[in-house]
Amino acid sequence: MKDIDKRLFIAQGDDPAALARLLLQQLRPEQGLPKDAKIGIKPNLVVAKSWTSGATTNPAVAAAAIEYFQARGYRDIIIIESAWLGENTARAFSVCGYSELARRYGVELVDVKKDKTETRKYGGMNIDISSRALGLDYLVNLPLIKGHCQTGLTCALKNMKGLIPDREKRRFHAMGLHKPIAYLNRMLKPSLTIADGTCADPGFEEGGNPKNLRTMLAGTDSVLLDAFAAGLLGYRPDDVEYIRIAEEIGVGSADLSAAEIIRLDDAAPPEVMRSEALESAKAHVSADQACSACYGNLLSALMRLDLPADFMISVGQGFKGKAGDIGCGSCTAGFRHCIKGCPPSVDDIMAYISQIRRAE
Ligand code: SF4
Repeated sequence: MKDIDKRLFIAQGDDPAALARLLLQQLRPEQGLPKDAKIGIKPNLVVAKSWTSGATTNPAVAAAAIEYFQARGYRDIIIIESAWLGENTARAFSVCGYSELARRYGVELVDVKKDKTETRKYGGMNIDISSRALGLDYLVNLPLIKGHCQTGLTCALKNMKGLIPDREKRRFHAMGLHKPIAYLNRMLKPSLTIADGTCADPGFEEGGNPKNLRTMLAGTDSVLLDAFAAGLLGYRPDDVEYIRIAEEIGVGSADLSAAEIIRLDDAAPPEVMRSEALESAKAHVSADQACSACYGNLLSALMRLDLPADFMISVGQGFKGKAGDIGCGSCTAGFRHCIKGCPPSVDDIMAYISQIRRAE
């Protein structure tokens, strides 16, 4: 893997493929990279939804990266990812346009859920990571600049969570997400990150409310990139705990004042975006170690429902074996009302809550 540097490139425009090409031409990842290098392209395909939803990486960005490397003689390229808990990665590859992409460019699709794993250790924490990901010589991380219901932001650092098996994803949530995300990035660092903000949801990692920031970021320091991306969503880097922890353990630097920020055009900085509907939905939720799929589906459902101010619902592994009133997901099986599923779907959550409300 290449050393990280302090440069952060910012390109602005409406054509994601053109922006990705422009950023790659600036960063020149081929410098010093042997032609037989194993290259992995890691998009964000958290759910089986088109990129137009603002949830998943536009395949045009991945295509630009593959074309860039293939044009320079690189042949050993894979696309590697796993969808979130409860979602089938093969379905996500197909729906998100990556099966077609793989056929077009002759690259292999690797489903991390089916891959072997190897355990890596850091700071007293063990994490099982995809063997194929660990075997790469060059990892191109292609996240979105997206909101997340629990961590505020999901971008470069959190996108690496797609390279661990489902059992580890569950454990990450039980550990509160922030620390394991930071530690995972200490164990496996992307060589380069290109983060797309041209069609990304500022509130949900599962999309549904896409915004166009006309911005794409690129760099080799995931912490620096996330620190900048946090600002685009209206957060300070310190507001996102995993950025702070990652900096503390030496993954990178969140110090934007010390960074070399290179704007590739003179366009005005993009406006900050944040979802008010999301913040209102969160006020109805008590979450404890909730998996993203469960929490995300719950918030999606709540945003679509008209709820009284005192309506509260619990979600997360922290409620296992506990009693309560209304709970979302099998972890709340001991509650008076439990929406079954692991995770339950948005439709099931909406139907169940509507039924309870009618019965009141
Ligand atoms: S019920 Fe929800 S919070 Fe519990 S393990 Fe399943 S997905 Fe995670």
